[in-house]
Amino acid sequence: MKKLGILGSTGSIGTQTLEIVRHNQDLKVSALAAGSNVLKMEEQIREFKPRLAVMWTKEAAQELAIKVADTDTKILWGMEGLLEIAVMEEMEVLVTAIVGMIGIRPTIAAIRAGKTIALANKETLVTAGHIIMPLAAEKKVSILPVDSEHSAIFQSMHGENRERVSKILLTASGGPFRGRKREELTEIRVEDALKHPNWSMGRKITVDSATLVNKGLEVIEAKWLFGVEPEKIQVVVHPQSIIHSMVEYADGGIMAQLGMPDMKLPIQYALFYPDRRPMEGKRVDFFELSSITFERPDTDTFKGLAFAYEALRAGGSMPTVFNAANEKAVSLFLDRKIRFLEIYDLIQGAMEAHKTVADPSVEEILEAEAAAYEYIESHRRY
Ligand code: NAD
Ligand code: MG
Repeated sequence: MKKLGILGSTGSIGTQTLEIVRHNQDLKVSALAAGSNVLKMEEQIREFKPRLAVMWTKEAAQELAIKVADTDTKILWGMEGLLEIAVMEEMEVLVTAIVGMIGIRPTIAAIRAGKTIALANKETLVTAGHIIMPLAAEKKVSILPVDSEHSAIFQSMHGENRERVSKILLTASGGPFRGRKREELTEIRVEDALKHPNWSMGRKITVDSATLVNKGLEVIEAKWLFGVEPEKIQVVVHPQSIIHSMVEYADGGIMAQLGMPDMKLPIQYALFYPDRRPMEGKRVDFFELSSITFERPDTDTFKGLAFAYEALRAGGSMPTVFNAANEKAVSLFLDRKIRFLEIYDLIQGAMEAHKTVADPSVEEILEAEAAAYEYIESHRRY
């Protein structure tokens, strides 16, 4: 029996993780955490009977506690609650499916407590990879990627000598606006940005896919997960999203992982690694597919990727500013307070205004986050 904690259980990755739990009798849920969706959390508590459930706000937790008073589940709230899940005695694998760098502290606490991490929450690695990866090595804790590209890279490195990796080929769908130029992006509405061609995901990451910020975050995530320098990570646009990423080796050989665009595969792979459990679902039909294509990313139009490489070059606290400015800008865009292209302006402005702090501590990361938020507040035109 493997016991899971799921941070972000009501979201896209969280609910798909629970779907896998439903199909595998040897998985059990010890703890769940979510932001504010009390109704969904109540359903999940009744079905999965976790020992502990956490809501982000006190009000949501109080409302939930009344609803589930007849169950044995203990209810907590806020960061304290997330940290309590992270170190829970019986929990063995923490699935980090929360959005944003709020995941940093619980992830660090779980690693300190020796828990395996199934990591979906890329923002945490982007901002605190320099703390998390050495800590995981010291504690001999595995960080298993859930992000589809990183799972593909991980699978393509299985049994290989990592010193012989010459290049990581990170694939990208190109998002809903692939092929458009800047002048064609001025009128983009929230609904347009939320229509991803291949993947059904949470709102924030869907917008990030449209700006290519998501691919930028993934380049940084790959650098930390696989210890590969940014020059060796190449983004390849592959609109069909069948090849989930590839690794080229010193002899020119390339290993790739392919499959339908369905997050359940990488989630399940992380939960049972190195086993491959059976899974229902549509299979790739190469005759139906008939062709797969590749393009160079247009980083002049979709600047998210260019900013990420810049942030990586600057290092230290700059990836935090890139990420935090994006988190704030995307939330303003989703609230219809700024235009699509202003996301880029706010990220660029916040990065230009920031003086990089080398090797930042968690406190300094949170300070850099606050500074990026302040920059955006003080430059508001909305
Ligand atoms: P989502 O918006 O669908 O779900 C987010 C979950 O986190 C929800 O359960 C929400 O209630 C919870 N949450 C948000 N703020 C919280 C807080 N302060 N405290 C506790 N819970 C909180 O997001 P998602 O698409 O599932 O993405 C989750 C993470 O996984 C992100 O980092 C994303 O980049 C990454 N990811 C997602 C996908 C995907 O297919 N959805 C693919 C790869 C990576
Ligand atoms: Mg991805």
